[in-house]
Amino acid sequence: MMEEQQNWTIDTSKCVHCHICQKNCAFLGKYGIDIGDTKRLDELAYHCFLCGRCSEVCPVKIDGRRVVAEMRRSRVKADQGAFVNKKYKRMIAEKKDYLYRNYKHATEKSVLFPGCNFPSVYPKTTKKLAELLLENAGIGIVYECCGKPVADIGMEDAERAVIREIEGRLLAKGVKEVILLCPNCYAYLGKHLSVRVVNIYEKLRELGIGEKIAGGGRMFRPCPDREKKEWLSDIAYFMEEKSVQIEDVQCCGLGGNGGVLEPELAKGFSQKLKDAPETIYTYCGSCAGNLTRNGCRQVRHVLPEILGTYEKPDTVKSLINRMRTKYL
Ligand code: SF4
Ligand code: SF4
Repeated sequence: MMEEQQNWTIDTSKCVHCHICQKNCAFLGKYGIDIGDTKRLDELAYHCFLCGRCSEVCPVKIDGRRVVAEMRRSRVKADQGAFVNKKYKRMIAEKKDYLYRNYKHATEKSVLFPGCNFPSVYPKTTKKLAELLLENAGIGIVYECCGKPVADIGMEDAERAVIREIEGRLLAKGVKEVILLCPNCYAYLGKHLSVRVVNIYEKLRELGIGEKIAGGGRMFRPCPDREKKEWLSDIAYFMEEKSVQIEDVQCCGLGGNGGVLEPELAKGFSQKLKDAPETIYTYCGSCAGNLTRNGCRQVRHVLPEILGTYEKPDTVKSLINRMRTKYL
């Protein structure tokens, strides 16, 4: 615990209390604190969405997201997980040892890893994509959760175990390449795997699968790709016109499990987009689902458009869709 605390103390000691992070974050703004206000931030660590906006804007380069993540890990160590086991019981029960895991359709060399959220809200598109990859390139599919939700609440031991086990299962199947279609899985799991990792848009382009999307619309970037825009540049190939980036919405509301303790803030993020007349594209199943749930009916994930299913997010049967993946 000492070591973890020292990490964020060293980082935050550079804070000049310019309040820029506070002005750019609904959570920090609500409580009137900066990332440098570590005592209060530590108490409120589970109210944060781990979106990284504070890290982007800080003039002295304090990584607020990492500060909060380390505070959460320290809390879990200090109380042996009592707080998280109570507050996030259902999520932990599902994701720590993923209940709907299915490796029956894994193939050697390369597999699609759609994560847990995309198949929940886009079951038809997942099916079509799996069929196309199998027919065109002999690529199979594994249904698995990358473990990020468990890592986000600070369960470091569980995080390590999940990664080790996923790696072990992939290697046991002879997998050499994992195709990720969720930017969260990519940012989180991708860096831990020893096998090659590619994003789905890179792979579709390589295989010559998919149609271009007419018009650019507005683009909502998921938190993990906001700074690097790595996925965005691969997606640009599939957009006939350049899309306008949405910069003034902090998060879809699902990030970091912050919505559990801040449901109103989580819901409020989408309000700026609710009445926008044009199509809003995104490339994260969780963002598309949550923005739609919160009233943004014009949100479209780019993948169903590229593959021609034009599927809208199924926010009603998402859990059932996810459960089904175990039996496919
Ligand atoms: S933006 Fe950086 S320096 Fe400014 S208050 Fe926040 S953490 Fe401190
Ligand atoms: S990570 Fe996001 S929600 Fe958390 S403090 Fe930073 S800006 Fe606010």
